[in-house]
Amino acid sequence: MVVIDAKGISKRYDQTIAVKGCDLQVASGEILALLGPSGSGKTTLLRLIAGFERPDEGRVLISDRVVVDVASSVWVSTEDRGVGMVFQDYALFPHLTVADNVRFGLHNTSRKDRQRRVNELLELTDLVPFANRYPHELSGGQQQRVALARALAPRPRVVLLDEPFNGLDPELRPVVRREVAQILRRLGTAAILVTHDEEEALGVADKVALIRNGEVQQVGTPEDIYYRPATPFVASFIGQADFVPGVISGQEVHTEIGVFPCPPNMSPGPVKVMIRHEAVSSKPGGTMATVEEREFLGGEILYRLRLPSGATIHLEQRAPVTWPVGHQVPVEASLSNVIAFPGSPNEKS
Ligand code: ADP
Repeated sequence: MVVIDAKGISKRYDQTIAVKGCDLQVASGEILALLGPSGSGKTTLLRLIAGFERPDEGRVLISDRVVVDVASSVWVSTEDRGVGMVFQDYALFPHLTVADNVRFGLHNTSRKDRQRRVNELLELTDLVPFANRYPHELSGGQQQRVALARALAPRPRVVLLDEPFNGLDPELRPVVRREVAQILRRLGTAAILVTHDEEEALGVADKVALIRNGEVQQVGTPEDIYYRPATPFVASFIGQADFVPGVISGQEVHTEIGVFPCPPNMSPGPVKVMIRHEAVSSKPGGTMATVEEREFLGGEILYRLRLPSGATIHLEQRAPVTWPVGHQVPVEASLSNVIAFPGSPNEKS
């Protein structure tokens, strides 16, 4: 069931178009990641859905109820939208205990019901032993769970999370995001997670919406986005992708590092073929490429290579084989899933 349905949302600040004609749908129990570079409009889009900002165009439905519609001047305030918010800085009340922080958003019920709900949330988020502590007595991960428990306490249909894991230590981040995702899935809440971290988006979300310059470039499962990127921007933002020039002729794409089957629905002519690092290997008889740079990654060395056409590709080689800068290496690519875009690699996408 679709819980969040946003259509044609646009927002401009003076000269800046922050969000441009965005459509998004999130079903119950689904986590959608809004992923994109800094300044691409992710936070603005989240704030428009939450009701912290008013769009210039478009409409948003939450659980089939119109909460904003510019065309018919409908506006429902944040408090009445039934959304829970979780922010990067947790925004906990420092003078309230964990239990009181969780209780904060509960109104209109008896004291007994409120206490029961607080206990449920403390159990759900594994915070029972910390109920009487104050936020400064908790770790970052525990504080983030309190923020989540507080957002979930009034049983919102929707939870909006704005870069919620940024403040955590890098080692703790994957653990906390897994816990948060499990809790949201168990409750069947629809969630939107704003992140600039590709690994986080691919690892946690059911669907990823990739945003660039205020526009949604592609919405899909993490696998769709990775293996079937709709634009060269998506291909290079997700995973690491290089592009080599190719020419479509008949049923094949010819490149300097291999001949591959032509993807469906592509016309004959010049194309740029996406090459991920894992597709490239060193093979006797391959095209000679020049080592331009090497980076030691531990078990592997990442080489940047220049091809005769001038295009660069990357190759990961298991140590202990090492090549110096300037060395000539024979390479070829093996593609099981060919992704190509019209044009040549040096054209702006
Ligand atoms: P992201 O969350 O992807 O980093 P934002 O939604 O914060 O991006 O910002 C998108 C664009 O809108 C940026 O160019 C930003 O500078 C601009 N912007 C955001 N909020 C405001 C504001 N309150 N006033 C003016 N410009 C803003």
